Order: sequence, then C-alpha cells, then structure tokens
Amino acid sequence: MPIHPTAVPVTFDLLAVPTNRRAAIEAMAHELVAGRKVALSTHLNADGDGCGSESALARILAARGLEVRVVNPTPWPDMFDFLLGDEFANMTSKGARALRDIDLLIVLDISDVTRLGNLTDAVRALTVPKLVIDHHVASDDPAGPNGVSDTTACATAELVYDMAQVLGCEITPAIARALYTGMLTDTGGFRFSNTSPRCLAVAAQLLAHGVDPEEMYTRIYASAPAGRVRLMADVLATLQVDEAHGLTWLSMQAGALEKYAVKSEDLDGIVEHARSIAGTRMALFFRDLGHNKVKISFRSIGKTDVNVFAREFGGGGHAKAAGALVTGEFAAVRDQVVERARAYLGTGA
Ligand code: 5GP
Ligand code: MN
Repeated sequence: MPIHPTAVPVTFDLLAVPTNRRAAIEAMAHELVAGRKVALSTHLNADGDGCGSESALARILAARGLEVRVVNPTPWPDMFDFLLGDEFANMTSKGARALRDIDLLIVLDISDVTRLGNLTDAVRALTVPKLVIDHHVASDDPAGPNGVSDTTACATAELVYDMAQVLGCEITPAIARALYTGMLTDTGGFRFSNTSPRCLAVAAQLLAHGVDPEEMYTRIYASAPAGRVRLMADVLATLQVDEAHGLTWLSMQAGALEKYAVKSEDLDGIVEHARSIAGTRMALFFRDLGHNKVKISFRSIGKTDVNVFAREFGGGGHAKAAGALVTGEFAAVRDQVVERARAYLGTGA
C-alpha cells in the first residue's frame, strides 16, 4: 500500500522546490543581504539536523557575503566538529551576548522558542528580524513569525537544500555533507516514515555533489566512545514492557553520563531499542538530569501521535518522535507519564 502520496511512478521532478516553500523562501530573500551580521541558532543539545542545517546555511549565507556566527544554547557537539572544518571552526559563540549586535536571527529546527534554553529570553527581546526554518509541528510560541515551516520535509536540512536552490547557491561538497548529515540522522538512516521519495532524491543529489556515504556512516554511527556501549548496556537493563498496551520504556539514572564519560549526543538512538520490540506502539526513554529535571523521549510506531501526547507535558516535536523536559522527582514523573501513556493508548490513539 502506498504510504507516500508520491509512492506511484514518479512522473515529475522530485527535486523541484515545492511551491509553498519557494514562495516562503522568496519572501525572506530580501533579508539575506551581503554585509549583514546574522546569527544561526538551534535547539538545546543540537543534533545532526540542527548542526547540519547550521553548517550548511552558514556556508550558503557566507557565500552571499553575510557575516555569519552560530549561537547555540548548548556547546557544539564534538562529534559534529567535522561539519565546521577549519574555516568555520571559530564560528560558534556562546551566550546571549553574541546576539547583541546582530542584524538578523535565523532559528533552525525549532518550532517552540523555549527550545532555545538559556537564549530564550534574549531571543524574545530581540528587535531584529527573526526567521524560523523548521519541520516540526507548529507550536503556539514560535521564535519568530516568518520563515519556512513545513512538516512534510524529512529534516530541516531538506529546507536548507531548498533555500540553496531558490537562492541559486552552489552546493559545495561541504554543504552537501552537512545537509546529508541532517537528513540521514533525522530519518534514522533513511528508515523512518519521513523518508519520502523527495528525501531520497535530494540525498541522491547530495551524493552526486560529493558525499561519501560510508565516510558519513563512520563519522556519525561508528565513532562512539566505548562508554556509550557500556552505558547502553546499563540503560537496556532497565527495559520495561507492557504488552497489553504496546508500551515500552527505558530509564537512565542521574550521573550516568559522567560515570561513562559520554555526552548527551551519545544517547541518540537508544530509545530505538525500546521501539524495536514487536507490538510496541509507544516507546519512552526517561533521563534523570538531576535537580528534579527529567528529559523524556517519545517514539511511536503506526498511528499513535506522540506529538499530541508530549504536549500534555509541555513538550512536542513530530507525530512519531517527540520530547519534553519535565520538572519533578524522577520516579514520580516516570510513573505518572507511564500511567498517562497507558490511558492514552487505551483510547486507541
Ligand atoms: P529527542 O527525543 O531525540 O530529544 O527529540 C525528538 C524530537 O522531539 C525532536 O524532533 C525534538 O526536536 C523534539 N523535542 C525533543 N525535546 C523536546 C522538548 O523538550 N520540547 C519540544 N517541544 N520538542 C522536543
Ligand atoms: Mn529536525
């Protein structure tokens, strides 16, 4: 059964920029003028899509003559240093101070301004134009009113590819690698339901622009510290399965990152092990961040919408992958969310 509306023989150009995106990009092009100082920001604990989109857009805008800096709420992850290269290695700045003298802010891969963490208040207060490039389900509190927002994009990186097309920017090998990183990681290695025909067509195009897929695989999925695997063993030992509801969950205790000398980006993908169990409709990963903060990852299979469910806890994301940051005692939060999940799944959601 076709899952994507285009899962029929392709008779049109998959690489053509969809009309709604083209119009949105054309509408913001007048902000992207040479000489302007622009800051690019993405969410807390930037992932492959956040870093890949920033790295690609930084190069696209630098080629147009803008002065670019990356200002994120949390440090640039070491594992994505290769996306900066020597020329952009010093481009990342920390803290709201780096936003003081900018002419323009572009927020990537975020639908809700609070995902900017310690930069949220400074961004709210900014009076310069704020553009949002994103593929999450819209929130009530976006970082800015304008930009490109399209939930049918497999990754924000796909929208940055569209920007390059519309702005007439050359896709250099460095840009291609950055965009490929975003698309590869947000689709779980081209496996999740957001792996659309266009996603694969754009990825094919990026290979043609110089991406080496094995090198990307090695850098992203085969460069982990041994501690990641040891931590995973600990986390997997916490597995709980509620077969009746199709609910599975994993937990990570406070201090585990320090114990195994790993970073939060090393946790990416652990929740997939819970989702991999037959009959799972919703998989959860609870992380005790200490100080009464609990980070929850929500994943689903089939029609269960975890974006709707995550919103009950102040979070959000996509229908099949969402997150939330909750305040409360770890075990109490986990028990409460598990109970609510049982009720949610019990309704046939
Ligand atoms: P992850 O579980 O991998 O951290 O995030 C899964 C998805 O949910 C990502 O698309 C991410 O942007 C979104 N997400 C993660 N944490 C939060 C959160 O605290 N609030 C909201 N609104 N979205 C989140
Ligand atoms: Mn994304």
